[in-house]
Amino acid sequence: MFRQITEARLNDIHLKYDEASGLKAIVAIHNTQRGPALGGCRIIPYTSTEDAVTDAIRLAKGMSYKAALAGLDLGGGKSVIMEPEGPYDREQLFRAFGQFIDELEGRYITAMDSGSRVSDMDAIASQTQHVSCTSSSGNPAPSTALGVYKGIQATLKAHPEFGSSLKGMTVAVQGLGNVGFALCQLLHKDGAKLIVTDINEQKVQQCVQEFGATAVGAEDIYSVPCDIFSPCGLGGILNENTIHQLQCAAVAGSANNQLLTPECGQWLFDRGILYAPDYLINAGGLIFVAMTHQGQSQNEMNHRINAIEDTLLQVFRYEQQRQSPSSLIADHMAEVLLYGEQVG
Ligand code: NAD
Repeated sequence: MFRQITEARLNDIHLKYDEASGLKAIVAIHNTQRGPALGGCRIIPYTSTEDAVTDAIRLAKGMSYKAALAGLDLGGGKSVIMEPEGPYDREQLFRAFGQFIDELEGRYITAMDSGSRVSDMDAIASQTQHVSCTSSSGNPAPSTALGVYKGIQATLKAHPEFGSSLKGMTVAVQGLGNVGFALCQLLHKDGAKLIVTDINEQKVQQCVQEFGATAVGAEDIYSVPCDIFSPCGLGGILNENTIHQLQCAAVAGSANNQLLTPECGQWLFDRGILYAPDYLINAGGLIFVAMTHQGQSQNEMNHRINAIEDTLLQVFRYEQQRQSPSSLIADHMAEVLLYGEQVG
């Protein structure tokens, strides 16, 4: 664990066991240079404490990078709850977790993540103010979609073969959930042609009817000829099986952890495909959560989301200058902001 802490440059880690509720939780605070650490609470049935600790550290680091590139006055943190094996009282568990968060006195602000729900955030909020994504906070997905749309604008400016407008361009969208559907709305309004897929046929039909989208099968989305491929469903979808199938000029979508392994960024670069690093282009949701929590205005929020376009353009410029994949450039830019290290 201490080796992982050192390698990730993690600030501190906190563990809590509460016998009455069965809570076994870990809070990893990666970096608080820019402000309190914000990051979601994941609750899944981990098979070992080591796995839970590894997950918390890895995810907390990712949040620091994401918040820094989004220009937020926040650090990165993440919490994980090892879901109890037998039956348990969910409300009691999250109340106990809320007390744990309160003991950290605002150094960590929690939020929703895999496995946790708005009602869980409400239970936490009964114990501490250091929580977001409660039932009074609103849905971050439209802000995420807006950020991805701004990111797509950046790809238009950066790619030599793209024009200045989305009119007539083809965007293939994978996953039509909260973010994917809202993105389709924005792209359709600009006159883009949509090719869509989802394992939920109802969502596909809605896009076909409302936006005149062309539906393709779940596996066909990778090889469909298009200008931009926008993954808005699962993570890990850019891998050795899919990258060689792509017939797009750019990849720009909301899904988290799109690259299955770090070298996938290099493979995209080698194929000449412009890749918008996922944690940069999908930061609209984090911006919404953070700024709602800080009580900032919609205007300030939109300003910050719009800035995703400029940051991404800068990433693409460095990519060209240094002939290094955008995924590495984004990491280096975040490290400069966090530690003052030089890019490249
Ligand atoms: P969601 O659950 O609402 O939507 C995901 C959609 O993907 C669903 O419609 C699902 O049926 C579809 N899907 C699942 N497997 C698929 C497959 N194999 N092929 C095609 N479609 C498939 O989730 P969301 O909130 O829209 O988030 C989408 C992605 O963006 C996720 O990776 C999420 O982590 C990421 N993200 C979301 C936000 C946000 O604000 N919601 C913020 C940052 C990142």
